[in-house]
Amino acid sequence: MTRPTRLLITNAHLLHPEDGTRTDRGWIEAADGRIAATGTGRPPAAAEGVRVLDAAGATVLPGLIDAHVHLLVTTLDLAAVANWTPGYLTVRALAEAERMLRRGFTTVRDVGGADHGMARALDEGLALGPRLIFGGKALSQTGGHGDLRPLGDDSVPCCESRPDFGRIADGVDAVRAAARDEFRKGAAHLKVLLSGGVASPHDEIAAVQYSEEEIRAAVEEAENHNRYVTVHAYHPRAIDRALRAGVRCVEHGNLLDDANIGLLLEKDAFLVPTLVAYAQTAGLGAGSGLPPSSLGKLAEVRDQGLAALERAHRAGVNLVYGSDLLGPLHPAQLEEFTLRAEVQPPADVLRSATTTAARLLGMAGEIGTLAPGAHADLLVVDGDPLDDLTVLTRPGRHLKHVIKAGAVV
Ligand code: ZN
Ligand code: ZN
Repeated sequence: MTRPTRLLITNAHLLHPEDGTRTDRGWIEAADGRIAATGTGRPPAAAEGVRVLDAAGATVLPGLIDAHVHLLVTTLDLAAVANWTPGYLTVRALAEAERMLRRGFTTVRDVGGADHGMARALDEGLALGPRLIFGGKALSQTGGHGDLRPLGDDSVPCCESRPDFGRIADGVDAVRAAARDEFRKGAAHLKVLLSGGVASPHDEIAAVQYSEEEIRAAVEEAENHNRYVTVHAYHPRAIDRALRAGVRCVEHGNLLDDANIGLLLEKDAFLVPTLVAYAQTAGLGAGSGLPPSSLGKLAEVRDQGLAALERAHRAGVNLVYGSDLLGPLHPAQLEEFTLRAEVQPPADVLRSATTTAARLLGMAGEIGTLAPGAHADLLVVDGDPLDDLTVLTRPGRHLKHVIKAGAVV
């Protein structure tokens, strides 16, 4: 990655997600990692030391944001992970981070697994990857979505220092302590697992996890730290309990009902559907390494996800892009665009991966926009994504440059 202090991109159509417009040919200038100015028509004369990039009529848009990733989960084979050291886990995670950046994601929000060490390595340029907004380990009750112990394992969960997707905390005091510990380690948000999940072997999708008191304790701790809680939830009961307790963001939400949609609107909360995860996992079938119970649960949520997204979209819910792909499925990270395009116009799908995602992350005006002052995280693509989202989903053909903080990757 080269690091010029100033970059001028000329001959480019500028795509503004805010209003879903694409300008006539223009230019965009970055200085010290930020967007300095934009305009149409003739570009300003480039001063000495400014790198000029002729986009030759391509489109410049803000770098994409994926708000639901698990960098640390680089395999579906839990038995294999048991033999891996923390160092090996981390190196594998950072290798995936670089691939995400090269797909066009300049910011990712990790909702289970990534830690401050990974974020620091990326910040310091020791590894190449997106801006990493991490939440540390997800909180799970015993027997919940984050409790992956086999049934023969009666050991008491321990060893919170090992990199992992989640940690177990039962009871209000333990939830508070775990939340405080994750915030101590720099978590930008707290992920709490409130219903059964596909990958966990021993819980039901329709099961509600955690009591109301425990959820309220997590929300209170997050608010004390000026952070927020986001929850893994499929079922209306779990979503309802979460939103009433003050949770700001719901992940998945495949089975949500109209009352849930009403509450999402009333609370101005966010929904992060992750349709591509189910489509891709179903494609793996029996050879996936997932337990047989997972494949049955997959069918339960997969078919209803798109209809849930469509209803939420029509109602005007804050929708944010998420992929939730694990292990070998990561290469499909852009395919969530394809699925959403079935029920949403391209401009709306783009906002979910730019402006709306930035708002969820508390970074409105900082990322996901071409507005002056924002980080110069940019994509240069051949074609018009507002007309055809495959411009984004086929980076090999269309993605000419990824620019992070003003530096061409
Ligand atoms: Zn989840
Ligand atoms: Zn997830």
